[in-house]
Amino acid sequence: MRYEASCHCGKIAYDVEGEFTEALDCNCSLCRRRGALLAFVPRDKLILKTPEENLSRYTFNKHVIQHYFCGNCGIAVYGEGKAPDGSATAAINLRCIPAIDLDSLNINKWDGASH
Ligand SMILES: [Zn+2]
Repeated sequence: MRYEASCHCGKIAYDVEGEFTEALDCNCSLCRRRGALLAFVPRDKLILKTPEENLSRYTFNKHVIQHYFCGNCGIAVYGEGKAPDGSATAAINLRCIPAIDLDSLNINKWDGASH
C-alpha cells in the first residue's frame, strides 16, 4: 500500500510503499530523544515529493546513516543507509504517516544503545 508521509509544517513530504504492521522502537542515543517509530523499506519505495534541499541532514557515530529532518519544524522524517546486504534502505518514521494507526503496530524494542 502507498502512504503519504510528511513533517509537521509540510516542507518535507514523501510517498512510501509498504505494509506497515510492525515498528522498531530503538533506544540509541538519537532515537531515545526523538522518539521515532521506525520501519525499513528499500530506498526506491520512497518517493520524495518536495525539493531535496528542504531536507536537513544529521549524522553521528560512524556517519553511515543519513538522518533527515525538517529544519523548519524539527520533525525527523526518514533516514537513509545500507542494509546488511549493501542495498540502499530507508528508515521510515511511521509517526509521520497520519493514515497509520500507531496503536495497531507491533512494537519491537531494539537495543541500539548496545550496537
Ligand atoms: Zn517541517
